[in-house]
Amino acid sequence: MAQKSVLVSGAAGFLGSHLCEALLAEGHRVIGIDNYATGNSANLEALSRAPQFSFIEHDICQPLQLSGLDYVFNFASPASPFDYARLGPETLKVGSYGTINMLDLARNSGAKFLHASTSECYGDPEVHPQPERYWGRVNPIGPRSVYDESKRFSEAAVMAYHRYYGVDTHMVRIFNTYGPRLQPTDGRVISNFMTQALLGDDLTVFGDGSQTRSFCYVSDLIDGILRLSQSGEHLPVNIGNPDEWTILECAHEVLAVTGSKSRIRYEPLPVDDPARRRPDITKARDLLGWSPKVPLREGLQRSLEYFQQRAKEIAASRSTQI
Ligand code: UDP
Repeated sequence: MAQKSVLVSGAAGFLGSHLCEALLAEGHRVIGIDNYATGNSANLEALSRAPQFSFIEHDICQPLQLSGLDYVFNFASPASPFDYARLGPETLKVGSYGTINMLDLARNSGAKFLHASTSECYGDPEVHPQPERYWGRVNPIGPRSVYDESKRFSEAAVMAYHRYYGVDTHMVRIFNTYGPRLQPTDGRVISNFMTQALLGDDLTVFGDGSQTRSFCYVSDLIDGILRLSQSGEHLPVNIGNPDEWTILECAHEVLAVTGSKSRIRYEPLPVDDPARRRPDITKARDLLGWSPKVPLREGLQRSLEYFQQRAKEIAASRSTQI
């Protein structure tokens, strides 16, 4: 697309910061917004040197007046189970007030809108793999409900702004994604295992490790999102890597890539932890000509240097505490 003025909420987050970089590389002017609830200013370091990038520290639960926008990408939300358990009410608010505020901004500017939704909309699924037409099996009052229901509300809001107000909207259902800039302390499986392996700590496998996830490398995900943003599709589209792993297999992949001698320690399975998850990506393939390119082993290798750096910092802070 020709140069556009693009706003990204959640710009200091893992996906938000990668998305900002990709949009800048396409020649756009990018305005990042974040309130640092779970984002990290270090993720913005490279971006802040780009003349076409500007940043506003702002909580999107509060309305924002900005004009002249061509595109709004709504990526603000705590997203790891550990973070949204810690920030339950904030997660519900950002997925309701925050999404509505961002939709109003797009509507008032005549901007297009892309919302970051999630495979958690499918809950603990009885249909496998999960196609977009599956409505899901979500516990509306369990510990994960603050995230799942905020994202499901957001999807309803996005569809309403499309149907009632004619906003040109898009929705991506994001499956487990990993890569550099995942916070080592966000409690997610890849960030935990990589950090634990590099520090020589035990790898904490929850339950018996037979539950499955399908892991997408971040550059593949961003490619899919950019394609969707240029499409005419208004209904949700799954973007994820259908290569499915048990959590125990994932632990062994991490041990192989890091060359670590860490041991595996079993811990209780969190409540409502989905037993399996794998995207049906037929729609993304047919509609966007998209499919993931980076296998898990290669993605972990590409992430190694980043996690080695984070592990060094953690090791240094441990030694000063002693
Ligand atoms: N998990 C684990 N050990 C950890 C962190 C997570 O075994 O240290 C498991 C977790 O129980 C889940 C899977 O890994 O089954 C993926 O968890 P994650 O927090 O990455 O995200 P989710 O896919 O559950 O949203």
